[in-house]
Amino acid sequence: MTTNQPSQPGREPGRPTASRSAARTVRSWRGLPAAQQPDWPDPAALAATTAELSALPPLVFAGECDLLRRRLAAVARGEAFVLQGGDCAETFDAVSAEQIRDKLQTMLQMSAVLAYGAALPVVSIGRIAGQYAKPRSEPVETRDGVTLPTYRGDAVNGLDFTARSRTPDPDRLKRMYQSSAATLNLLRSFTAGGFADVSQVHEWNREFVADSPAGRRYEELAAEIDAALRFMRACGADPATMRFDEFFTSHEALLLDYESALTRVDSRTGKLYDLSGHMVWIGERTRQLDGAHIEFAARVANPVGVKLGPDATADTALALIDRLDPNREPGRLMFITRMGADKIRDVLPELVAKVAVSGAQVVWSCDPMHGNTFKSGGYKTRRLDHIVDEVKGFFEVHRALGTHPGGIHIELTGGHVTECLGGAHEVTDGDLHLKYESACDPRLNRNQSLDLAFLVAEMFRG
Ligand code: PEP
Ligand code: MN
Repeated sequence: MTTNQPSQPGREPGRPTASRSAARTVRSWRGLPAAQQPDWPDPAALAATTAELSALPPLVFAGECDLLRRRLAAVARGEAFVLQGGDCAETFDAVSAEQIRDKLQTMLQMSAVLAYGAALPVVSIGRIAGQYAKPRSEPVETRDGVTLPTYRGDAVNGLDFTARSRTPDPDRLKRMYQSSAATLNLLRSFTAGGFADVSQVHEWNREFVADSPAGRRYEELAAEIDAALRFMRACGADPATMRFDEFFTSHEALLLDYESALTRVDSRTGKLYDLSGHMVWIGERTRQLDGAHIEFAARVANPVGVKLGPDATADTALALIDRLDPNREPGRLMFITRMGADKIRDVLPELVAKVAVSGAQVVWSCDPMHGNTFKSGGYKTRRLDHIVDEVKGFFEVHRALGTHPGGIHIELTGGHVTECLGGAHEVTDGDLHLKYESACDPRLNRNQSLDLAFLVAEMFRG
């Protein structure tokens, strides 16, 4: 977690010191078509909740969002790599010390391997401490002749298939805030407390390699990292003082009532920041150019991401740049492509080439998860081979164009779940039922996540 201190936390609109025009700006999305918003049964209860949230302290500081923007500017220039990862949907029940620690540990282990492979600093961003709302393809779900609203994330309704649980409840937005705060608090303690010095993280990776059926394949890289650490020690550097202590948070900015309640004017600059997380992204289903989500994202100064699926055109990408990054500020905008392993090599080149010609310096990140989902025996799943192949395609496209494959965006968890197929400790179709715990999309388990990190590290050399 970042330790830099802001001069002052932002103040929310509505207070006497906040500028009135900023307060108007944060509401500019209202009145525009907003896709994927819940049907809250009681608008007055929603309004009371958002008023309460507006008066609570921000979850992060604007200065931390600026620091992330500077880190991402380095990615846009080709001088760093970004690892963004975490659950598809966080749940309130999973806010426990063990689960948060395991996710952080997995991310740090991946970061270490990627940093060595890429020979670049890795910017670590969790899909964490706020990833509680989900866009859905179907508004309702039918089971045994009963039709109920679909689950839209713990921020909106419950996963249990009962009318009561599936009814959107604005009280859940307060639990979203509390759960995000508790998660952030623990992440800050872990990173500030030396949980993650470089030798410790490498030691965890050595244990993973020793236990991995992929053994030899990873041993070579792990031995090289060992040698590098020994060399640093020989030169008088102490790897124990080198820590992975910068860890940022992100989530999809889906529920605009919540996001705008957490949006505040930064007293240093007078700019608006969405202080529910360091970075937010706009999903594939809500990135309409004339829609509320893009309008909201255009008004906040955080780094923002936009997902781009296989139907996205270069013109759309250029129009998004005009809306979201009119000043062409490196680190402000990340395109997160999620094309599918079978499409990326055909679809991505034109987007990247035209954006490069426009002169915009965006971060290109590859989400190899969402274009590779299918069903097996009733379970939504993904195959690690397809995930690796999409990342490979991403690297090939960027290499051919001379642009920077800036990062990867992964759905993962620190536990040993059986949600995705494949990996050196192979998960088969018959294993899916054993430990399928995701509330939404299938996540890589810890071993599969580390497999992926080693395979991506190899791509930097290939
Ligand atoms: C997600 O990131 O969980 C998601 C819903 O992605 P997308 O918007 O790309 O479908
Ligand atoms: Mn997902």
